[in-house]
Amino acid sequence: MRLLLIGPPGGGKGTQGERLSAALGVPHIASGDVLRAEAAAGTPLGRRAARFMERGELVPDAVIIEALTPRLSGGFILDGFPRNLGQAEAVDKLVTFDAVIHLPVREPELMRRLLARAAVEGRADDTRTVIRHRLRVYAEQTAPLIEHYRRMGVLVERSGEGDVEAITASVLSAIRPLSTRS
Ligand code: AMP
Repeated sequence: MRLLLIGPPGGGKGTQGERLSAALGVPHIASGDVLRAEAAAGTPLGRRAARFMERGELVPDAVIIEALTPRLSGGFILDGFPRNLGQAEAVDKLVTFDAVIHLPVREPELMRRLLARAAVEGRADDTRTVIRHRLRVYAEQTAPLIEHYRRMGVLVERSGEGDVEAITASVLSAIRPLSTRS
């Protein structure tokens, strides 16, 4: 099963990615986590990426494609990559998604969740100014992927607001029929 999660920062992709991974028995691959691990390890790729991440900018396509494409074998739940149309074109040449799951969440709720996360996790890019910028980057660069995958006929949309378990159940009910296809 090859799934892609699309949703705004703070929209619950990470939480749902972990839950879907446990339910479906395929790894959850979160591009932000991969980049943060590279940055923490001080690799050249991580150091390059960190400069963009701190500002809430997307890292250059070549950097993220180099970091993520070697991981795209077998089944997976991809979270956060591709994040713009250029990346999607590269990924679409390598992978056919069984479903692309869009989890929309309204902006005041996103701000509330991200500021709460900042207090708990202390992520460098969870400050109010950088959050605003990340939301703008999402609207301008990532949201066009929703139409892209709708046109390809693989888009599944489920609200990302409300009870975490109910959201997982709703996504699973949409995609379970796909896992029985040959
Ligand atoms: P996330 O944990 O998904 O919110 O990602 C944190 C940061 O990592 C983003 O704000 C970007 O700077 C960077 N990042 C993650 N995925 C990508 C991607 N596919 N393309 C470019 N930058 C990315």
